[in-house]
Amino acid sequence: MNKDKKLLLYTISGAAIIASAYIYFKRRKMTTEQKYSQIFSQLSQEILSFKQLRQSNYQLKYDKLLYLATFDENNSQLTLEEQISFSDIDALLNQGACSKEINPGGCYYECFDCSPAKQENDQALNGIEIDVINQIICEECFKAQGHENHRIKRHEEPNIVKAYCQCGVKDLIDRKCFCNKHQGFDKIKQLYEDQVFKQPKLWKGVEMFLVDSFYYYIENVSTLMQQKLNKKLDENTYNQKIQGINYFIQLIINKINEILELNPLSIYLISKLLSKPFDKPISFQIKRSSEGKYPQKYIRLILKQKEINQDLTILDCLLLSYEVISDSTSELLSKLLHSLATADEKFSSILCEKFFRMIGFIASIQKSQDVWIYKSQLPTFIHVIMEKIFIQSVFDHLLNTLGADIFNPIEYIAFYIENQFNQSKLELNHIFILLPNVCFDMFRQVKQIKSLMQRYPKELVMAINNLNHALFFNNAMGFKDQFIDNQFIQSHYNTIYNSFQLINIETQLIDAQVFIFQAIKLINDEELTKNMMAITCKNFKEHIQKISDLTEKKENRNENFYTLSIASFTILPYLVATSEKKIFTKASIQNFFNNNFNFKCEEEKIKFMQCLRKVLSKFIFFNSGQLRGFLPFLSDLSAEIQEMVQQFIQYMNNPGYRIYDIYILVSSIILLADNNSNITTLNTQPQKLISLLQQVDSQENLFYLYYCYVQIQQMLLDSTPLFNLFSQKLQLFFPEECTSEDTQIKKVIKKNIEEIIVSCIKKSDFQKMNFNDLKEICSVYIIDQNMIKQYSNEVLDQEESKEFIFLQKQYDQKLYTRHLLRANIEDISQVIKNQALKNKQSNEKYTFAGSDFSLENLFPYQQDIFKKIFFEEEYIRQIINLYFNTNINICAKKSIHFFLFLLLKLLTQKDQSRIFNLQERIQIEKIIKILPLSKLQEQVIANKQLLQQQLNNEKFMTDEIFEMLKQLNQD
Ligand SMILES: [Zn+2]
Ligand SMILES: [Zn+2]
Ligand SMILES: [Zn+2]
Repeated sequence: MNKDKKLLLYTISGAAIIASAYIYFKRRKMTTEQKYSQIFSQLSQEILSFKQLRQSNYQLKYDKLLYLATFDENNSQLTLEEQISFSDIDALLNQGACSKEINPGGCYYECFDCSPAKQENDQALNGIEIDVINQIICEECFKAQGHENHRIKRHEEPNIVKAYCQCGVKDLIDRKCFCNKHQGFDKIKQLYEDQVFKQPKLWKGVEMFLVDSFYYYIENVSTLMQQKLNKKLDENTYNQKIQGINYFIQLIINKINEILELNPLSIYLISKLLSKPFDKPISFQIKRSSEGKYPQKYIRLILKQKEINQDLTILDCLLLSYEVISDSTSELLSKLLHSLATADEKFSSILCEKFFRMIGFIASIQKSQDVWIYKSQLPTFIHVIMEKIFIQSVFDHLLNTLGADIFNPIEYIAFYIENQFNQSKLELNHIFILLPNVCFDMFRQVKQIKSLMQRYPKELVMAINNLNHALFFNNAMGFKDQFIDNQFIQSHYNTIYNSFQLINIETQLIDAQVFIFQAIKLINDEELTKNMMAITCKNFKEHIQKISDLTEKKENRNENFYTLSIASFTILPYLVATSEKKIFTKASIQNFFNNNFNFKCEEEKIKFMQCLRKVLSKFIFFNSGQLRGFLPFLSDLSAEIQEMVQQFIQYMNNPGYRIYDIYILVSSIILLADNNSNITTLNTQPQKLISLLQQVDSQENLFYLYYCYVQIQQMLLDSTPLFNLFSQKLQLFFPEECTSEDTQIKKVIKKNIEEIIVSCIKKSDFQKMNFNDLKEICSVYIIDQNMIKQYSNEVLDQEESKEFIFLQKQYDQKLYTRHLLRANIEDISQVIKNQALKNKQSNEKYTFAGSDFSLENLFPYQQDIFKKIFFEEEYIRQIINLYFNTNINICAKKSIHFFLFLLLKLLTQKDQSRIFNLQERIQIEKIIKILPLSKLQEQVIANKQLLQQQLNNEKFMTDEIFEMLKQLNQD
């Protein structure tokens, strides 16, 4: 349709023709009202059997209807256009909002001092920074206002979608920060009230005309849907009618736009009428089912006997029938809704509410009672929702009107993930990409999470666990045999592709769960904490048991799978931290499990621990020889797939997403949780290590062996998982240890961060750099930039010009490899090699553990894992025996070197009274006695010759093993 055609263009201009029409009706003894109704129902019938050629005829009729609706004998010397027009242009000067569209690649600004949301949350967050964009101000408005001495941020996003400048919108930008061209809507609103007061009859008429337009439209749609449900239509007829219906709604929206152009004030007329129910009977009805789960949560009925329905507004009806709306109509409607939501904050709350309530209808098509078709598209106006959803007043409105249905979008996503039928189609899925932005925004505002926890704690935890559940089983790869090879990847191309999209849900779901615990600590309300702890622990237990049972059932049916979702475990570290208030130790972890899960007997506890280990072992890192490791082995894959897999691995290791961190810390917690189990209990890495060593017959097993060992190292040595999970929050979760002076923990934290900084610089090979470079190179391993800043002085010197920073001389030969273990193992080997080459003359030994390694520098839980693994006599005996087994492969021997190396590290530090109590020292002596020290020395030397050509770290390691054995032997 041609937008340039202004109102009235098709119609009779001037009073004469109107008058003649009037006389025409009068002669036929029809009142204007009767004629109006007659034409309207005629038009709506005609439009249903839409014909291109008749468009101008429809248009003509529709325009005539507006005339009839607003006809006023007393005012007939003015044209309708003149009556509607708002003439006082000056009054509107510099009013309203900017709404300039930000194009991809364009820049926009955010001002912390002008953002009500930011300021509200800042206070609650107590110094913790959250990376959320709360504002969009275009370059022009930003410069016009100046924002002098304000804290601002400039954004440049190449992938931006549908963003508009918000200058003039008072919910988003503080009133006093509007630029002089966009002074907001207060005055316009006032002028609107005056106008309605002055011309009541005209505006009543316009309102009636628009309400009737929607009425006929909705009735047309519901009739069509009814016919389709009853299968009374063939596809062609149905499509033709859909075309007509879209023409109809476009006709209405274009008319509204024409009116708005002539009279911008009338925007409030539109937003008000959309928020009201029809006063005539309609056929739509909504029933909420008692079962309360999608797709049965809300059922749309189309009544044969129409009824007056006060529960459904015009907007509701529009959304209920969204399935008939074409893309171009959706675009047109969204523009209108955006303008309405910008001008009218009450309307933006209502729009969000309706979106939340109707999500099941607008995101899917209800074909018949029981068949749903899954649309992967969402209405274009989701961008309006995304823009407004974090505003406090919008949230309050949602909570008050929706109650626990505020979790609808989260529940809907879970339902959708579990039921996507068409996985074969590779297309961008809006439900995965856009909907999470709407679901999880309320978790970023402390005040909002607080309300949710106070009013709907159970529903909150359930909604999140449902989504955890859905991701666990559906973001997964099925497999027949264990090994990932080319064929496996090819056949899972679609799964990986979809996984990529699911990542967006996974990471936001993880964030949401972290935010909940962060909020619990920030709010610091004893009652609320107690209640949330009880509910989350109970739910966590049930959730884990449930997925463990289902997994077992699947396995019994021979349906093996890896899951790519770790979200189910997100809360475990935070639960322990909240309950025990100290950095993890074996004792605190066991305490936590005993105190919070109400185990009726020891047996129940053992059973639950089995479930935990079982569920965790389904995560792809546990069994697959680590996803990251297989890439070099897959040489004949297409470039496209290689690229995708590469990106996938990066995502898995990215500290910002915390996938690796959750997996490693949770593995550690579970390993220490159970005092009943020994180290060879099923589904732990140490158990896997020994069972793999016993069957190193195939190339695959060697490969697994290697990565199994790497994982044990990651648990024992890598400090970054704890830092990343409690980034910026160490003090919040562990106040005593982190605030009081000079605690041992504080020293460990300081030492570890310093080592991370040194190692990151070594890896990047920068000679000198500025602070931003440093932040950049560290961000691959650790997200907490404040920590880096705080401790960088200790290891860095500044150039006199203060422009560059560089590593202090004492670190020239150092490399603390253990903090880099999250990276690809080949990369780490390369770093070690480079460092060794550079410092050929030095005595430094470059191993995976790193320079100056001492158990004292590890976190307490890592020391406890050391003890758990290496204090178990039978386990040590078995591994040492395997070392002397002549049938065993050299690669397996290399793996035992790793093991031996760490064992000896522990044994040689036996005198450290801070780490070992008396009983533990006795245990160490026992272990030393088991070891055939001289025989081991001989074997190490023999193996070293075999390893001549090997990587530097392995050479250094055998040297060190030899020396430590010698030392123990001499003692
Ligand atoms: Zn602007
Ligand atoms: Zn502006
Ligand atoms: Zn500002």
